[in-house]
Formats: sequence, structure tokens, C-alpha cells
Amino acid sequence: MELKRVDHIGIAVKNLEEAVNFYETAIGLKAVGYETVEEQKVKVAFMPCGDSELELLESTEPDGPIARFIEKNGPGIQHIAIRVDDIDKALEELKEKGVRLIDQTPRYGAGNARIAFVHPKATGGVLLELTQRM
Ligand code: ZN
Repeated sequence: MELKRVDHIGIAVKNLEEAVNFYETAIGLKAVGYETVEEQKVKVAFMPCGDSELELLESTEPDGPIARFIEKNGPGIQHIAIRVDDIDKALEELKEKGVRLIDQTPRYGAGNARIAFVHPKATGGVLLELTQRM
């Protein structure tokens, strides 16, 4: 599996506009892309930060995964994404190693990516996303 780098850090927020405003005015980052991913019930803003990005995530529905995460943990870091060249190959390797996955096959991710999540039970509590940029 060829790992490139940390692609982004996913942060669950209650209010996307307020969070973007904070990172722009206080931290000096700039939101470069907004997207709604219906399937995951999220509105997303990408904020480049050096080689990586922050991915701010606000739930669009009270029963979405981000809403449930905030209910359980409060707002904050929700996942870490590692960029791979070939996500199909990466998933095959993980399956061969018996690693518990949330996604057996890649799905669409914000920012025109193919993504798959590794189960936090396998990683010691971190929701790990594999990302292949298209
Ligand atoms: Zn992500």
C-alpha cells in the first residue's frame, strides 16, 4: 500500500459558517471549496493548510453520521484521512490482513475523491479514511 501523506483531518462542527469564519479570521486559513454530499448527509468546507487540509463537516440531517458523532462526543476531530494512490489495492491489502473495514468497496467522497473508512475498532479508536483523489 502506498501511503502519500495525511490528506485531511475531518472536523465535525455544529455550524459550518461559524467554523469557517473562525478558521479564516483567527487562524488565517481560507475555505476553497464547499460541497454537500447527500449520501453522507453533510455539508463540507475544505480549508488547505500546508500540504494537508481541514475538512469541516456539518450535518444536514439530525440523523446523519456527523450529527450522531456530535451527539456522542461533541464537536471536534472526527476522522483522519490518508492519501493513497490506489484505493482498490489498499483495501485488498487490508482485507488480506484481516483488518476490520467500514467500507468493503470505495465510495464517493467530497472533493471528487474515492474514499473508504477503516473501523475505529481496528485502529485503536481512530476513524481512518483512505482517500484517492481523482
Ligand atoms: Zn474526510
